[in-house]
Amino acid sequence: MNSINHYIFKECVEAFVELNNAEFALGFVVSTTVQPNFVYLDTKVVINSLDLPEKDVIKLTRHLERNFFEQACTEETLFFDKNSNLHNSNVLNNKNINNIRYVPIKDALGIYAVILLINVKLSKVTQKLPDITSLVASSLKLFEHSVKETELYPVKVTPQKNISNNKKAVESLLKNTFHPTFIFNDEFKVLKANSASQKLFHSNIERGWPTMDKLLEKSIPSVATALLNTINKYGFLGHLNKEQWCDVNFEHNSYQSVKVDIQLFEIEYLGTQCFGLMLNEKYDAEITAQDYFSSLQRFNALTSVVPMAILQLDKNWRCSYVNETWGRYTGQNIKDSKEQGWLSCLHQSDIQEILPTIQRVTFYAKNYTGEIQLKRIDQSNLWVSINAIGLFNDKCELTGFILTLHDISESYLHAEKLEKMANYDHLTGLSNRSFFNDRLAVALSRSSRHGITALMFLDLDKFKNINDTLGHPVGDKVIQEVASRLASTVRNEDTIARLGGDEFAIIFTDIKTIHVLASIAQKIVNAVHLPFTVEEHPIAMSCSIGIAMTDEDKMLHTPTDMLNKADLALYKAKELGRNQFYFYDSQLEHNITMLNRLRESLNNPSKNEFTIVFQPQVNIHSNQISGFEVLSRWNNDILGHVGPDTFIKLVEDNNLIYEFSLWLFNEAIKTVSQWVKVGLIKQPQRVAINLSAKQLHFHDFSDQVIDLFASKDMSPTWFTLEVTETAFIEDPTIAGKNLKKLQKAGFLIALDDFGTGYSSLNLLRRMPLDYIKIDRSFIKDVLSDDDTAKIVKAIIGLCEMLNLGVIAEGVENAQTKDWLIANDCYTHQGYYFNRPLTKTDTQSLLLNAAALATIAS
Ligand code: C2E
Ligand code: CA
Ligand code: CA
Repeated sequence: MNSINHYIFKECVEAFVELNNAEFALGFVVSTTVQPNFVYLDTKVVINSLDLPEKDVIKLTRHLERNFFEQACTEETLFFDKNSNLHNSNVLNNKNINNIRYVPIKDALGIYAVILLINVKLSKVTQKLPDITSLVASSLKLFEHSVKETELYPVKVTPQKNISNNKKAVESLLKNTFHPTFIFNDEFKVLKANSASQKLFHSNIERGWPTMDKLLEKSIPSVATALLNTINKYGFLGHLNKEQWCDVNFEHNSYQSVKVDIQLFEIEYLGTQCFGLMLNEKYDAEITAQDYFSSLQRFNALTSVVPMAILQLDKNWRCSYVNETWGRYTGQNIKDSKEQGWLSCLHQSDIQEILPTIQRVTFYAKNYTGEIQLKRIDQSNLWVSINAIGLFNDKCELTGFILTLHDISESYLHAEKLEKMANYDHLTGLSNRSFFNDRLAVALSRSSRHGITALMFLDLDKFKNINDTLGHPVGDKVIQEVASRLASTVRNEDTIARLGGDEFAIIFTDIKTIHVLASIAQKIVNAVHLPFTVEEHPIAMSCSIGIAMTDEDKMLHTPTDMLNKADLALYKAKELGRNQFYFYDSQLEHNITMLNRLRESLNNPSKNEFTIVFQPQVNIHSNQISGFEVLSRWNNDILGHVGPDTFIKLVEDNNLIYEFSLWLFNEAIKTVSQWVKVGLIKQPQRVAINLSAKQLHFHDFSDQVIDLFASKDMSPTWFTLEVTETAFIEDPTIAGKNLKKLQKAGFLIALDDFGTGYSSLNLLRRMPLDYIKIDRSFIKDVLSDDDTAKIVKAIIGLCEMLNLGVIAEGVENAQTKDWLIANDCYTHQGYYFNRPLTKTDTQSLLLNAAALATIAS
């Protein structure tokens, strides 16, 4: 087989397989010069005839020559089908074969091949094609007898024409015909369609025509296959064997059709051989009065019995007909429904959204279906399913609509209930956590296009107290009240969820600026703070809010990311004293990392990341060390050295003070007991330990400390405790009790950082104190600032009057030391004397001091 023929042959075979939906097929080529070649179509493998038994080849060749070369070929292919009348038992007796089709292939010189398409069953055992060679031979024999009239069709040779002229001519022809006309190529691609066809199909070329085969299958299904076959055959017949179909149903949709005549023709367009299809619409306007009357009767009878509302509307939504069910559904009487009246039973949003959608959908001759809520005359709502179809006139223009509405309230209520159960919190009716998660994910995925998405985390302050003191039923009512306040404070489109307990979250989308969020958050804080009563209990609630938002740089955020951030911010709001909101910032994140490390270090004392240092306090009179202040140090393997100003705050804020303080006391007791044992320190020398304000708020704090000292057999008289005013101010009763007990047990109490806080004289009177430490910030400025100098003098005078000791902190130079001495302050602590020292350095210092003392004596 020469290569060109082979190529054409393969193309033809493939086209035929597709056209005939052949499962498996076998094709062969014959010519006077070449032996038959077989092609298994499933594999596209060409099998040389040499692979066939020789006697079969000879037989085949002879038959083929006789049928295709000695006589002319038939125009139509021969077709045998088990299910058709053409069934011939001789051929199809073979149970492996479903049907057979012969297709003659011609070129300008005549037939050069026959394609034999055979649908066969695979061998059950081998899953291979059964051997059908003998069958082919016998079928050819049959073919021989079936040949009737034969004719030879040469491939049409198209002479070269001026392409642009031809294009103009075709386009002008299209433009000037009133009939819908299409030009399409052999791949069924529509190349040109005139305005009449656009009108008919309610489509336009900008939206893109579907391929012609799709178009035909949809709108003229009755002849589509025949028409497409004709086009397909053109390729090898070289002409169209049928060109006209009359009185064909052209279907706009499932309920409206018109009759058309169809004309198919060949046309050259843009230099290629194409096809034209013209549709000629026929109008039989001859409807008799009788027809009309009976159709109207039918319509009225139907609409009155069907259990659904029916409306007929013109294209401007003016109503010309409603049935009785409409009145039952809406409470509107028929007269009021007419014209625009029916629209009053629709919600404004549906009028704005659904009606235009109906218009759009029906324009393309499709049905619209949806669900809406009807607004009844009594203002209640009714869920209905809605179905809309377009009405077209004989010019295929949209003239109006028929709407049918069906009451689905029952099934809807049921579905709504189910949905509520799955998505909503039963106590408040707000979204639940799982629904909230979905919504957050959706909001975040849209946020790159739609402004800022923000997440507020809201937690009621000290809600546990309510449950504990007033009981859970009251607690539930409080949660409900808060939920309704939230709902009335934010917009409808914001998703409010109850995440559990007293935790709420709100998702905001399309936020333009952070100011908007701040003002919403403040409104919420205010709204929750308004007092109310539950079962005659007056309730004063407050809440704290953490806010996270997507930033303007449109970075992608995951829901978890946002939740963590809002959570951190909420934490901060609580820490700042509750009843307020806080925006997430990256510093919070830093604090969290630090907190985690801190926890780790505290839980692993063996890592020795925490140590204590000792800063000497000097008595100027005696020129001796009067004591030490214990200061903590934290050296983390990752964070490095973190100052106590930073980590003590974290310890306090995160309820780690108990663990920390236990470690601190143990560490100090351990060192001091060694020193006492070897006589390194002597009374009245003392070691001062800083207490955190929070510790003094625990009722049993003093007892715990006293017990600890007793258990270590350490006398409190070796120690001073440094406290700040805040500890006392926040809770004078408990702090006072604790301090008194501690003082009684033998500790001295020093008031730390004096001057920086309230510096209340009243406090000095009420607190059990032994010392006052004047804060470093004053000492630093005594030489340079007159007012500061006056204040420090006043403090020293005050201590003298109240019979309290006084220590100056932060003495950094001799001048300051001298000034203090001149003003009767004789106990000093500061870099001028010593920086805080390690245990070893402190011991050396004490040893040296003892040596000096020995020398002096
Ligand atoms: P504080 O109680 O006022 O401690 C004195 C601070 O002043 C120490 O800083 C000390 O190193 C520093 N200081 C002492 N003399 C001078 C000086 O002449 N010049 C300057 N510029 N600074 C001087 P440190 O150790 O960083 O501690 C800071 C704060 O951390 C302490 O202030 C105290 O409030 C807290 N703190 C430290 N250790 C502990 C502890 O073990 N427990 C508690 N609760 N708080 C602690
Ligand atoms: Ca201190
Ligand atoms: Ca201090």
